[in-house]
Amino acid sequence: MSHGKGPIVIGLSSGTHEAGADFRAMRVLIVEDEVKMASVIRRGLVAGGMAADLVGTGEDALWMAGATDYDAIVLDVMLPGIDGFETCRRLRREKIWAPVLILTARDGIQDRVNGLDGGADDYLIKPFSFAELLARLRALVRRGAVERPSVLEVADLRLDPARQRVWRGDTEIDLSQKEFALLETFMRRPGEVLSRYQLLEHAWDYEYENRSNIVDVYVRYLRDKIDRPFGVETITTVRGSGYRLGD
Ligand code: CA
Repeated sequence: MSHGKGPIVIGLSSGTHEAGADFRAMRVLIVEDEVKMASVIRRGLVAGGMAADLVGTGEDALWMAGATDYDAIVLDVMLPGIDGFETCRRLRREKIWAPVLILTARDGIQDRVNGLDGGADDYLIKPFSFAELLARLRALVRRGAVERPSVLEVADLRLDPARQRVWRGDTEIDLSQKEFALLETFMRRPGEVLSRYQLLEHAWDYEYENRSNIVDVYVRYLRDKIDRPFGVETITTVRGSGYRLGD
C-alpha cells in the first residue's frame, strides 16, 4: 500500500486553539485503522479538551510522531502492516519518547507484556469507557515523556539490562546468565579491546573459580548465539590482547 512520502492523515486537530496563555491543549496521536472506532475515540478526546490527530497505520504513526511533538500516543495493536507493538518499538528506536497507551482487544497477559516490553507505558482493553481513557491519558501526560536509553545498542544488536533480554534485529536471543553478563560487558564498551582479565572481572563474580580458558569458552558460546546464526562476526579475537565487539 504505497501512497507516496507523506502519511494519510484521517483527521487532523485544528491548529488554532482558542485558549488562555497558560493553557496548552494536550495533543494526542490516535493510531487506529477501524474508522468507526477511530472517530469515536477522536470525538471523545476532543470533547475532553484535547487536540487529536488520527492515522490508520503504524507506518503513518511513525511519520507523524517524527514530525510532531505529541503529548501522548493512543496505539491500537491490530493494524494493517506493522502492528502496534512493532510501531511502539520503532518509535522508541527513533528516540520518540511520547507516552504510549496501547489499545488491545484481547485480554491476553502476553499482549500486555509485549506492549510494555516494547516501550509502551500503559494499556487499555477494548471495550473501555471514555472516562477511563481520558484519565489514563492525563496520568501519562502528567508523567511526561520518559527516556529509555537504558537499552544498549551495537549495530542491530540490542540488550535490555533491566529485563535481561537480547535481540539481533527483530529476533530475540536466549542467553544464559553468564553469556548475558559477558555480552553486557562487551556492549558497554563497543569497539574496545577487552582483555580476558577485564572480561572475567566484569562478568564473573570474584569467587568464581578462575579457570584460565573460561572466558574463551563463553565467548565461543556467545558467538554461537549472537553471530553464527545471523552469518555475522561481531566479536573479533585480537591476538595476544583479548576480544572486541564491533569495529
Ligand atoms: Ca485496529
